[in-house]
Amino acid sequence: MTEATASADLLIIGAGATGLAAAYFATAQGQRVTLLDAAPQVGGAIGTIRDDSWQTETGPNSLMQSPILSELIAALHLSDEVVLANPLAKKRFVSQHGHPVALPMGPGSLLSSPLFGIADFWHLLKEPWIKPATQEETIADFMRRRLGQGFLDWAVDPFVSGVYAGDPNRLSAWAAIPKMRALEAEHGSLIRGGIAKMRAAKRQPAPPMHPKKGSLFSFKNGMATLTQALAQAITATGRGHIETEARVTAINPPINITPLGNPLGNPLGNPSGWEATTADGRSWQGKKLLLATPAWRSAEWIAPFDEALAADLNAIEYPSVTAVALGFPRAAVAHPLDGFGLLIPSREGRQTLGVLFSSTLFPNRAPDAHVLLTAFIGGRRRPEAAEGDDDTLIERVLHDLRPLLGIQSAPVFQRIQRWPHAIPQYELGYLALQQRLDSALTRHPDLLLGGNWRHGIAVGDCLAQGKALAEHIRGTPVSA
Ligand SMILES: Cc1cc2nc3c(=O)[nH]c(=O)nc-3n(C[C@H](O)[C@H](O)[C@H](O)COP(=O)(O)OP(=O)(O)OC[C@H]3O[C@@H](n4cnc5c(N)ncnc54)[C@H](O)[C@@H]3O)c2cc1C
Repeated sequence: MTEATASADLLIIGAGATGLAAAYFATAQGQRVTLLDAAPQVGGAIGTIRDDSWQTETGPNSLMQSPILSELIAALHLSDEVVLANPLAKKRFVSQHGHPVALPMGPGSLLSSPLFGIADFWHLLKEPWIKPATQEETIADFMRRRLGQGFLDWAVDPFVSGVYAGDPNRLSAWAAIPKMRALEAEHGSLIRGGIAKMRAAKRQPAPPMHPKKGSLFSFKNGMATLTQALAQAITATGRGHIETEARVTAINPPINITPLGNPLGNPLGNPSGWEATTADGRSWQGKKLLLATPAWRSAEWIAPFDEALAADLNAIEYPSVTAVALGFPRAAVAHPLDGFGLLIPSREGRQTLGVLFSSTLFPNRAPDAHVLLTAFIGGRRRPEAAEGDDDTLIERVLHDLRPLLGIQSAPVFQRIQRWPHAIPQYELGYLALQQRLDSALTRHPDLLLGGNWRHGIAVGDCLAQGKALAEHIRGTPVSA
């Protein structure tokens, strides 16, 4: 048995943000961890690609500063690598009737914005007196009720596309936008709750962080800086072993676990804990096992010993999204690109969800006198739009963006990243599903499930979840 295949305290499958953070904190606490990933590199959805002077991201392009990111930046000595988003990125555009319109940034610009009309402002005035909902509802129902159809169509719908590539008519307000829902639950109104939060923040400012809380940032050499630093720190402890290109094909519960409906136990189980088998025929053991993989992937491995749990995991939808990064000479794009990017509401009837002005957002993303745009296509409403060969995808995106941004030439650079299962959708019924999962897991001591389908999809949410899992593992003795 090699050192890698020896039984670890914790075996983790999936080296995305969640698995890496869990491994980082668990090794820091003194545990022996084996981390397996099918891909040639760690990071999962996070990945940076350098092509000469072009720098693109495979998935996330930016991070929102939060306590966990602040903690990791300090611990991994990444402060000098941080690059803040251009202040222009505060400005965001949406397409309305085929024209880019800046979203209002304050009450003054809200009143003069062409996006909203008298009926929308009238609805807004009534908002503080609208009764809170008593049962789970979709984002569309929640926002239509509280803010009215105009705000749903031109602000919320594009936001939901930008974050979840999702459909507000399906996503659960309680699960997908829990902070908004909490404002309603605690203050009876989004407006009253928003004001109360601002006052509380003034009274008790956030603890100092670098960059400061709520800042949008990346790293000079891109998002992979963070995942590579985590991987280095894990192995540097001498207690963490990372194996890439290790595609897990099956997991096997320990001998003392009784599969559902089988009173005889699991005679084929591994006596020293959980076991994973990889495509190359090797087997890996851990006293505890964390599956930090997409829900549908974890379901494949769990189905042989818990069909009900696997069915719930499989019920989480993952629409297809493709990221299409395109470079142009600056002079070939008429729009000033003076913002974060442009989102396309579903009412506009386009296939592209939105586009980031990547070279405005961060420096050194494009050669001099050029611009980099990153468009996203597909999503819950039109997953088929994410499919096709490169030329088809580029033409689809340009068909939508040419008139909106005044693009006058063919791209001089392109990089396409397909995500056939891009982002888990926290749809109606999701909270009940999570409760069923929590209760199902009590049937499988020392098995943990994590990933962006559990407690938030942002990279910061996944890192915080990884840390919480490591702490939970430390506090729970291995079952007898
Ligand atoms: C296009 C896109 C844009 C995004 N933009 C942003 C953004 O701007 N900001 C933000 O905060 N978040 C963004 N997100 C969301 C965020 O990136 C993800 O939610 C987060 O990175 C997911 O981390 P994870 O650990 O849950 O899973 P993943 O990153 O999906 O990692 C799962 C890992 O499991 C591995 N795996 C799968 N099957 C096997 C197997 N059989 N054997 C071994 N390993 C396996 C995979 O190789 C992968 O490395 C974006 C996501 C996408 C797809």
